[in-house]
Amino acid sequence: MTEPVQAGDALRMGKWKARGVGWAERRVCTRCKRSLELTGFTKDSRVCNDCEALVKLRTEQLKTRAGQLKCGIPPMYHGACGNDFTSGVRDAVALWKKRKGGLFVFGPCGTGKTRLLYAIKRMMLPTNRDTKLITVADMVRQLQAAAGSGGKAEGVLIKRFTNYSVLLMDDLGASKMTEYAISAFGDVLDKVSAWEPWYAVTSNLSLEKIGADYSPRFESRLSGGVILEMAGKDRRPRRKE
Ligand SMILES: [Zn+2]
Repeated sequence: MTEPVQAGDALRMGKWKARGVGWAERRVCTRCKRSLELTGFTKDSRVCNDCEALVKLRTEQLKTRAGQLKCGIPPMYHGACGNDFTSGVRDAVALWKKRKGGLFVFGPCGTGKTRLLYAIKRMMLPTNRDTKLITVADMVRQLQAAAGSGGKAEGVLIKRFTNYSVLLMDDLGASKMTEYAISAFGDVLDKVSAWEPWYAVTSNLSLEKIGADYSPRFESRLSGGVILEMAGKDRRPRRKE
């Protein structure tokens, strides 16, 4: 059983490779990439003790109200999960999860786009400590404030957004986008489509409309990933609990 080796890993494991030591003997946590020798690990595990403890903690947190609030999930979306959606939606998300890169979700209001993002957040949170869900409007507001304060603040913030391993951006086009908003959000999209973390964008608008109303650059970036149309009639009724 050999795992594919990625560029950064190859550099890091260069000296082991040279000695003919395989991936299995590699002493780096596959999740946080820190040395297993430093953080401690259980025998045969490729994940360090810290990461294992975090998965346990997050899994427990996601079961309780207080825990979910702590993870930044508003009460309305507590318990959001794949079962709230049709198999078509679940298949699209599974494909995206496998492929990484972009997921574009569009459809009218009330079809569960935001709920889907929270379901994804709840799914990804245990294994990805840096999972971020933010509305496009909030992201642009923060970037504009940073740009206003001058210096490198804006660039630093763009870097922080695009460094998440899972970045979920809600409601593109919900409010009118200024010239600044279009250029700043375009920068974020350029970065994430180059570095390909898992990222998702939701919108009430179709890709064509986004291209025509805002920027052809948005359309071309977003069309590279998995595209999912949410239709009201397809959505399962909320389970009564
Ligand atoms: Zn780790």
